[in-house]
Amino acid sequence: MTRHEHPTPGCRDAPVLRERGQREVFCGLTGIVWLHRKMPDAFFLVVGSRTCAHLLQSAAGVMIFAEPRFATAILEETDLAGMADAQEELDRVVARLLARRPDIRRLFLVGSCPSEVIKLDLGRAAARLSATHGPALRVLSYSGSGIETTFTQGEDACLAAMVPALPETPVRQLMVAGALPDVVEDQMRGLLDGLGIAPLALLPARRADAACAVGPGTVVALVQPFLGDTRAALERRGARVIDAPFPFGEEGTTLWLAALAREFGVAPERFEAVTAAPRARARRAVAQAAEALRGKTISFLPDSQLELPLARFLTRECGMRAVEIGTPYLHREMLGPELDLLAPGPVLSEGQDVDRQLDRLRAARPDLTVCGLGLANPLEAEGLATKWAIELVFSPVHFYEQAGDLAGLFARPLRRRAVLGLEPA
Ligand code: SF4
Repeated sequence: MTRHEHPTPGCRDAPVLRERGQREVFCGLTGIVWLHRKMPDAFFLVVGSRTCAHLLQSAAGVMIFAEPRFATAILEETDLAGMADAQEELDRVVARLLARRPDIRRLFLVGSCPSEVIKLDLGRAAARLSATHGPALRVLSYSGSGIETTFTQGEDACLAAMVPALPETPVRQLMVAGALPDVVEDQMRGLLDGLGIAPLALLPARRADAACAVGPGTVVALVQPFLGDTRAALERRGARVIDAPFPFGEEGTTLWLAALAREFGVAPERFEAVTAAPRARARRAVAQAAEALRGKTISFLPDSQLELPLARFLTRECGMRAVEIGTPYLHREMLGPELDLLAPGPVLSEGQDVDRQLDRLRAARPDLTVCGLGLANPLEAEGLATKWAIELVFSPVHFYEQAGDLAGLFARPLRRRAVLGLEPA
């Protein structure tokens, strides 16, 4: 039996503990930090409060050295007293921005938490502004509010907002959805080229005028497990989504590519010829980086929605044992192939009730806990090793060449503790 067959029943039908309590996660505005890099001709205008401005500034501190491609239109209480005034104020802010930055081709109005902002119809504002400033500029809107979203859902909401505006095509093509760092995207293109899978559309496209269209001939592969709304929006446009394990680690990457190879009729010999060398490299790199992980236990607090694919990678390729895998939302269809691969045993939980989750964590005391920034320091103070979930979204972690680095990200906190003499590696 090869390692890609799974003799155990997996976790697809395992019970899931549903938590509906206090949440401690970043909001969807955070996605702007990586999305603006993927779309150099886009601008993100957050319609929000001073808190939102502070979050963006601190999350994207490095941007102060570059021409920023996001800003916050701070609408004070007084601006929002009359909704008509707020819409006019927004028009003024956008006109000023465009006068200064005529290079902007895509403008995203990003909603936030304050109740006044929620009442503001940003969809209507986007349509009005598109009519005024189009066709060279397309204005779209989505919500990054922390009430509705966890931090990765900002990307989902942004991509989903783009889908209805994509041109229609009948062409049979592959669309890869999800923002990847450029270097990783290039590696993926190399693999798909090698397999002869074409034409390829990317969502998000780097440029507004790039050929990104959708229609009934489009087959979609997601590279991120948090794109549920984008997936639904693409299906509404007639596209068909291939559900497969996500391309994390050697195994995930191979299974993701294999699902596409099946769909596009790639000969097994060609698949082998294209993937054999990078697979071997990935296995070697993972084996080396995973030395510190073997036999160690891990728990995930719900944060990034990457938890299930990462737990699959860490348990199957790095020899870890998962104690609890918490995820903010469990999209059964999209994550079904991941659940199939996951050996029964860990507690699966969906949603957050931070106190109860911390109680279980303290009882289990896993060797490593993946959690949000806010929880990491207190847990470290209690002697628990932690890994920030957000780092996994900011780092290049997809596909073969990053598999070793992905294992290394988890090994680092354990090695650090060993060096500090806190526990053996
Ligand atoms: Fe805070 Fe909400 Fe603004 Fe996010 S959108 S920074 S959670 S006020």
